[in-house]
Order: sequence, then structure tokens, then C-alpha cells
Amino acid sequence: MTNFDLSNRVALVTGGNGGIGLGMAKGLASAGATVVIAGRNKVKAQAALQVLGGRGAFVELDVLKEESCRAAVAQTAERWGRLDILVNNAGTTVRKQPQDLSAQEWHQVMDTNLTGAFLCSQAVYPHMLRGGAGKIINIGSMMSVFGSSYATPYAASKGGIVQMARSFAVAWAKDNIQVNTILPGWIDTDLTRAAREQVPGLHEKVLARTPAQRWGDPADFAGIAVFLASPASDFVTGAAIAVDGGYSVMA
Ligand code: NDP
Repeated sequence: MTNFDLSNRVALVTGGNGGIGLGMAKGLASAGATVVIAGRNKVKAQAALQVLGGRGAFVELDVLKEESCRAAVAQTAERWGRLDILVNNAGTTVRKQPQDLSAQEWHQVMDTNLTGAFLCSQAVYPHMLRGGAGKIINIGSMMSVFGSSYATPYAASKGGIVQMARSFAVAWAKDNIQVNTILPGWIDTDLTRAAREQVPGLHEKVLARTPAQRWGDPADFAGIAVFLASPASDFVTGAAIAVDGGYSVMA
């Protein structure tokens, strides 16, 4: 279907070297895009590139550093002559009760999850403007909607990314740039493996609360990534779309 065809498109996926980011990168590559995986861990990135076959490349990125965000975007646009799709996927958390968090931990999570996405979005704008179109896909969370005693800065950043995306969407709709946010449920990745080790009973609790009766898999994000990156979603902007097996609609 031509509506979902990403041939000749160039995508930059932050934190695309594993987990949900790699799940989306695979989807984008299978639809024809060249996918640039941006992250810190080169060993993980090399393994991810093998999976993507000839459709991938790696660029170093630390979203905590403004210069790194701007350089990763500039290098990608320079090498391929265009940048059509940005996936703001890099994310982290610090699992502590709010009274135990340091200011440094608060900033680490907010700056990774929210400020990093802001800086990368800002950096891609001139390239998308020049190309006459653009797609920005942010990764929120169930914590964009719900609260958790162990996720104060995480929830703040993930709520913030939805509102930030809406503002970008409003500002850049006239430029044919669509900005949307995916809200994953509980997905089996390194991030949640750590949570399951720290929180006894989490695995079973998630199963009981999820109507689909399973944890999500990074592969569950391939389709939504292709949709939000392709012309099929040209009139979809500012949306926050749950990919959660029904978690957020369970009474
Ligand atoms: P992973 O731990 O597998 O992925 C996190 C990615 O973020 C890694 O690839 C990591 O790259 C990258 N990253 C972290 N900090 C930085 C940084 N400073 N600069 C560049 N890259 C960075 O976990 P997930 O796949 O689960 O997480 C991906 C996204 O999905 C996150 O935004 C997360 O909050 C979100 N999410 C996950 C859910 C889940 O259930 N798993 C649920 C809801 C949202 P590197 O290895 O190079 O450091």
C-alpha cells in the first residue's frame, strides 16, 4: 500500500539500539526507510544494526547533552541529505519514593525523557521544513495518564511529553509536520526487566490488569510506528495513542 510506503525516507530513532526503539526501527526499515539508530551503547547498536540488515546506521547520541542532540541530527541530515522522521524514544527512570529523590535524579529523568525530546525535535525542524514534510513520534507511557509512587519524575516527564507534542503539533501543522505520542502499556524490555527484579509481584499484577492477558513486546510497536511515520497519518497530529493491550481502558 503506497500510503504506508517509507521508501526514500530517513528516520532517526533515539535509543533505537534495543527495546521498543528497536521494535519501531524494524517496522520503519521493513516499510522501506533508512533508519539511523542513535544512542550511547555501541555494542547494543551493532547487534541492532545486524537485525536491520542493510537499512540501518548508527550515530552517537547522549540526549542529556544539547550539543550531542544537535550533532546527531546534523550528521544524519548531512549524510543522507534529508531527515523525514524523528522518533523520540530514549528514556530512563529512577525508582524511588518522591521524598527520597535527589534534585540530580529528578533532572536526570526529566532531562533524558523530556528535554532530550525537545532538543531533538527543535533540531530536526529546519530539515523537515526544507523537505516540505515531517513526522515526529514521541514515546509517552501509561504514566502520561496515571500516577505512581515510584515514578514522580518519570510521570512528570511522560505527562509533559504529551503536552509538548501537542504544542509542537499546533505550531508546525502549517509546515506539514505531524507530531504524535505513543503511550505504551507494560512492555517486556531491559527497563521493565529491572522493575520486575525490584518490585515483587509486578509481573503478575500487570498480567491481571491487562485485558490482552500478556505483556507487550517491542514488535507490537512496528505497526504504529509505520502508521505515524507514513502519509497514512497525514491528518493525525497532537494525538496520544495507547498501545497497551487495553490497560488504560480497564475499569
Ligand atoms: P530500554 O532500556 O530498552 O531502552 C531505553 C533506551 O533509551 C536505550 O536504548 C538507551 O540507549 C536510551 N537512552 C537512555 N538514556 C539515554 C541518553 N542519555 N542518551 C541517549 N539514549 C539514551 O527500555 P524501553 O525500550 O522499555 O524504553 C524505550 C522508551 O519506552 C522509553 O522512553 C521508556 O520510557 C518508554 N516506555 C517503556 C515502557 C515499557 O514497559 N518498557 C512503558 C512505557 C514507556 P543506550 O543503551 O545507548 O543508553
